[in-house]
Amino acid sequence: MIPQTNPKAAYLAQREAIDAAIRRVLETGWYIQGEEVAAFERDFAAYTGSVHAVACASGTDALILALRGLGIGPGDAVITVSHTAVATVAAIELAGATPVLVDTDEHWTMAPAALEAVLKAWPSGVPKAKAVIPVHLYGQPAAMDEISAIAERHGLILLEDNAQAHGATLQGRMVGRWGKAAAYSLYPTKNLGAIGDGGIITTDDAGVAETLRALREYGWRERYISALAGMNSRLDPLQAAILRVKLTALPADTERRRAIAARYTAGLAGLPGLGLPKIRANAAPVYHLYVVDAGARRDELQARLKTAGVGTLIHYPVPVHLQPAYLGKIALGPGGLPNTERAAKSVLSLPLFPQLPDADVDTVIGAVKAAWAA
Ligand SMILES: *Cc1c(COP(=O)(O)O)cnc(C)c1O
Repeated sequence: MIPQTNPKAAYLAQREAIDAAIRRVLETGWYIQGEEVAAFERDFAAYTGSVHAVACASGTDALILALRGLGIGPGDAVITVSHTAVATVAAIELAGATPVLVDTDEHWTMAPAALEAVLKAWPSGVPKAKAVIPVHLYGQPAAMDEISAIAERHGLILLEDNAQAHGATLQGRMVGRWGKAAAYSLYPTKNLGAIGDGGIITTDDAGVAETLRALREYGWRERYISALAGMNSRLDPLQAAILRVKLTALPADTERRRAIAARYTAGLAGLPGLGLPKIRANAAPVYHLYVVDAGARRDELQARLKTAGVGTLIHYPVPVHLQPAYLGKIALGPGGLPNTERAAKSVLSLPLFPQLPDADVDTVIGAVKAAWAA
């Protein structure tokens, strides 16, 4: 079976350095925060070109902390997409704010026109919009030029959900560098993954960074004195040490992801009715996922690939606004979310991780062609 993703392969690729990093932390006797976490934050800030990076326990927490750190909470609405990991929307609710969900465009990311439309016809009874969270889904940059212009015109804070797009660029500018802050997940299968949970927030604003550092640890600015009502969301030093090793491989891993994507695109071109990723002009995606649009044949294609020994996943099978926990709670844009609802029925993620050999990519291409012709 060729798996859709394989975090163990990433461990094995750097086994000696990761084992040594783990042993180093074990020997220090320092198991919460400390120099290892600070060093990872410096490394990640340097990688992204950000002034500050603040690590925390997960990507979901990174979003919650970022929202709180930007002063967003009860009485505020936050606009995002429904075609995303549920964490994006969960974080808005957990920060006490009200999510408002808009539709996606042909790149599977926030449609600027849908954002504009919902702001023009703001749903009644919903608090005033204070922020917008575009999601760089699948490693594809959202339309940040248009979205940031709309945000600016409407006085909205721009927070990027960069959980799937570490290092992607639009117009030569990294995603995560367009907004006031960006939240990253370091979940094992993400482009930069820990061996467990992790998250990090980047910002150039020293005041926001200082608030985030307090919020992640009981609101402390000074030990044992809670200046703010905070939480406990710390990145383990063990994970920080592992992530410092993994970060050294990220540029090469990203190039490998792009090479695999290019091989899929060349190998699968021209199959009638099979949609391949549409790349935005001037975008350099990082292919967290390679997602095809199989239309009404999606479930059949997935089943045939499984029989052929090819693992696939669906990101995501149910849009957030149709999930049991969120049904009816969330205000929608006018006209519903047709692209989002269509995506849930038609998308399929093919195997993609940096250690996937070309021979396996070719096997997948052959299996997709055979299944499509059947
Ligand atoms: C993974 C992910 C998150 C949540 O990250 P966790 O580390 O799992 O909490 C948020 N948003 C998106 C788009 C994600 O892919």
